[in-house]
Amino acid sequence: MKLYNSATRTKDEFVPNHPDIVKMYTCGPTVYHFAHIGNLRSYIMEDILEKYLRYVGYNVKRVMNITDVGHLTSDADEGEDKMLKGAKRENKSVMEIAKFYTDAFFSDCAKLNIKTPDVVEPATNCIDEYIKIISKLMDTGYAYFAGGNVYFDTSKLERYYVFNDFNAEDLDVGVREGVEEDTNKRNRNDFVLWFTKSKFEDQALKWDSPWGVGYPGWHIECSGISMKHLGDDLDIHCGGIDNAFPHHTNEIAQSESYLGHKWCNWWMHVLHLNTTSGKMSKSSGEFLTVDLLEQKGYDPLAYRFFCLQSHYRKSLVFSWENLDNAQLSYQKLIARIASLKPGDGEVEQEAVDALKAKFTGALDNDLNTSLAVTALYDVLKYKTNDATKLAVLADFDRVLSLSLIAKADAKREELKKQTVTAGEFTIVSESGESDPSVEAKIQARQDAKKAKNYAEADRIRDELKAAGIEVTDIPHGAKWKRI
Ligand code: AMP
Ligand code: ZN
Repeated sequence: MKLYNSATRTKDEFVPNHPDIVKMYTCGPTVYHFAHIGNLRSYIMEDILEKYLRYVGYNVKRVMNITDVGHLTSDADEGEDKMLKGAKRENKSVMEIAKFYTDAFFSDCAKLNIKTPDVVEPATNCIDEYIKIISKLMDTGYAYFAGGNVYFDTSKLERYYVFNDFNAEDLDVGVREGVEEDTNKRNRNDFVLWFTKSKFEDQALKWDSPWGVGYPGWHIECSGISMKHLGDDLDIHCGGIDNAFPHHTNEIAQSESYLGHKWCNWWMHVLHLNTTSGKMSKSSGEFLTVDLLEQKGYDPLAYRFFCLQSHYRKSLVFSWENLDNAQLSYQKLIARIASLKPGDGEVEQEAVDALKAKFTGALDNDLNTSLAVTALYDVLKYKTNDATKLAVLADFDRVLSLSLIAKADAKREELKKQTVTAGEFTIVSESGESDPSVEAKIQARQDAKKAKNYAEADRIRDELKAAGIEVTDIPHGAKWKRI
């Protein structure tokens, strides 16, 4: 399996450090607001990566943080604490909004079939871990105390920028929110490991530390949580592209200075979901949530399908028209799967192997999900029986998680309820309603056609039309709708 590694800027064969386990860390949400569908693009792609690793046979231990303290409005540790800002906005305590938005996040994930990581750790649970790391960094001269805060000294490193193949605009995202510069820093990119002197007297959460009562910086949280649960090394670290700098860059700086050796081998960054006017962000206030999509009548899984149709290393532009197209394609796909007959024949292993080869070939190539989606259509077109097709689709859906089989089963049930069968002839209403008088007329028209009385058949069709009913012939039946 080849995966692009942001740290080496090459697509390399993925080899975990330990043969029996893949250690995976994902930056989690800052729970001061709802996740927007841009954030969720990153989590969908990380979910695909985790599930595909499991699919090809790896054991995976995946850890994710919940940032409930220390993330300031600028990723460069300036501005206001996002959690405090959220609490003020809603007149609640920081812990209340942390709980509320953590629950909301996992509810969104469930709707998008995103699996909950093996370990989910709130940052406020690991204060001792951060203090241990920061103490050693102070002892070894990588950190300094200034103006009441503890900073990491980036000038101590031979190489600080690791991901410098990204364009300047992406790298700037974290630091451009127009906040005043912190004059305590020795170097522009030095970052806070521990705050004691904060601009916000009302900082809600504080802990004792060797440097005074205070709270951790955002970056140290991910290093501490990762080391607590995954030890001194890591196979894959994931996040959205805005995390590459400064967040991940700082994580590497502090972790490797602390450990004295390389920390994480693979860095996977998901490019942004943009609106036509730029990056979708929580701070801009204008963002779309899963709830909002549902209110507008979209199936959250149509959004997952939309994300899978593009490659994670390309930015993706959201528009309602694009989502409409994705929803339509998704519904058509489900309808086609629903037309397959479960139990029709024995599963043919040769066909399974041939179809799987294309699917794994796509995902082995740096998670090419759009080709993996195409592989679903190949299954439908393949010359094999329905039992084989359904078995292969169910297998692929272990990774894609589009609820293909459950939705197709539900669709079949729905169609059964909607249909009135007379012999071979099936009458279906597009809206799902049933109307015996309409169905009787459609049946009468069919009987007239069978008796070659086409004039009568046309008369009935006109009569229905005059009553606002449009009838369309479909194989082995007719469907109708109100116009
Ligand atoms: P946050 O809750 O702001 O800390 O972000 C959670 C995750 O979403 C991080 O991995 C971010 O890099 C990622 N992210 C933020 N904005 C976007 C976006 N517009 N598109 C894709 N991922 C994003
Ligand atoms: Zn992180």
